[in-house]
Amino acid sequence: MRKITNLRFENAYAELPSEFYQKKDPVPFESPHVVAFNENLADELGIDSGEKQNPLLAEYLCGKKPLAGADPLAMYYAGWQFGVYNPHLGDGRALLLGQIIDERNRRWDLHLKGCGTTRFSRGFDGRATLRSSIREYLGSEALHHLGIPSTRALCVVGSTEKIERETREPAAMMLRVAETHVRFGSFEGFYHRGEPENVRALADYVIARHYPEIPRQAEEGYGLFLSAMAEKTASTIAKWQAFGFTHGVMNTDNMSVTGLTIDYGPYGFLETFDRDHVSNHSDHFGRYSYGNQPAIARWNLEKFTKCLDGLAGEEQAINAIETYNKAFSESYRELMLRKFGFEKEKKESLRFIEKTLGVLAEFKTDYHIFLRNISDVRRDGSFGENPWLLELSETSERWQQWFREYAGELRENSLPDPERKKRMDSVNPRYVLRNHITETAIREALEQGDYSEIEKVRRIFENPFSDQPGCESYAADSPEWAKNLVVSCLS
Ligand code: AMP
Ligand code: MG
Repeated sequence: MRKITNLRFENAYAELPSEFYQKKDPVPFESPHVVAFNENLADELGIDSGEKQNPLLAEYLCGKKPLAGADPLAMYYAGWQFGVYNPHLGDGRALLLGQIIDERNRRWDLHLKGCGTTRFSRGFDGRATLRSSIREYLGSEALHHLGIPSTRALCVVGSTEKIERETREPAAMMLRVAETHVRFGSFEGFYHRGEPENVRALADYVIARHYPEIPRQAEEGYGLFLSAMAEKTASTIAKWQAFGFTHGVMNTDNMSVTGLTIDYGPYGFLETFDRDHVSNHSDHFGRYSYGNQPAIARWNLEKFTKCLDGLAGEEQAINAIETYNKAFSESYRELMLRKFGFEKEKKESLRFIEKTLGVLAEFKTDYHIFLRNISDVRRDGSFGENPWLLELSETSERWQQWFREYAGELRENSLPDPERKKRMDSVNPRYVLRNHITETAIREALEQGDYSEIEKVRRIFENPFSDQPGCESYAADSPEWAKNLVVSCLS
């Protein structure tokens, strides 16, 4: 296990032409301290988790002391934001410190967010709030442990520095870990500037590192890349939909070229099943609503395929979009069948799922609590001692009819009750990271300087499918005070 001072950085991205980045050191905090440190991820990366106790850790992780071998750079990118192309983005407040290789020979980007201005800052302060850093720390880890591809979070470093947002708020930095930070927008900038040689260099970089199965020099290599990328994107978006996750800002600069969920701004989870649910309160037209996400991902992919115009043919671009459509539908169907406990892909079962989503929407029933509980419904229509189901069945005749239909469907298409319950409980989380859970951890941090809730929440959400004694309140629906919690997109 390595010390933080002995990470042996490389930086393959720095081998690309200089237009791809600006080399730049972090602007450190005056008096940094560790807010959160994810020992489990440290362990996975081959970093000694005991480093949490290192009194100098915060200084190393905010750039106050140099990390040996790191060669920090701000990556250039552009992007389609709310349907409008913005040529001038790029890491305005984050730096790729470099890449480390873990004991399983996997290469990881270490990316520090909130570490000062860069050439791409556009007049903003280059900082991030403690609030948004905690949200990303908890959100990205929660998604990872649900099995949704995501960037990870190693550490949050706090400071005494205040920054202007809606109010003056403490600044923090977050150390993000991911196989890549290359976004759709990383390609778009070069395409729109008319620099096909840079588009090709980046495509070669991404294919070599993240799509090694694509044969080099193959004539159709770039087309295969488009399709492989479309497939990864489809799989991630299908999981978002099945787990009721809304990203909030699906601009192409927030779309990863390996299908990772990246950029945790005003994200959220559904409570009731509502296709029009919008987690970003600045998204007045609902462009990035829950129900729009699959179509937006396709729109973003279509924009992306344009960038590879000269490298992949038109037919290959069309193929990639068809791959996306097919892979999304298949993955989503498969996940939903598992969540409902159905064994085979049968038309009747799929129709039943669709109908159930309608009933959930009509009765404003909690999506996650419902799915977690229905594993107790038996094929004979009974549901034992489950008080939640009992209450639901008593609310209306419509639900009673639903229970009869579900039992009928289970008799046609499911494993015996105990086996099915086990399988359903492994895909329907008991714990969902609702906004009030992160908000409570944030308030304790901001108001009392108490960070213990942050790590407690992270640990609970490392096992979202297992019942954890004493954690019942984390499995409940939102309390009244949190029903209309507004998540600011100022971060
Ligand atoms: P985001 O909303 O985090 O996806 O950011 C969109 C773009 O704005 C990215 O290019 C960011 O680097 C940049 N950005 C956001 N906040 C700041 C900030 N406080 N200072 C500098 N750049 C920022
Ligand atoms: Mg972003």
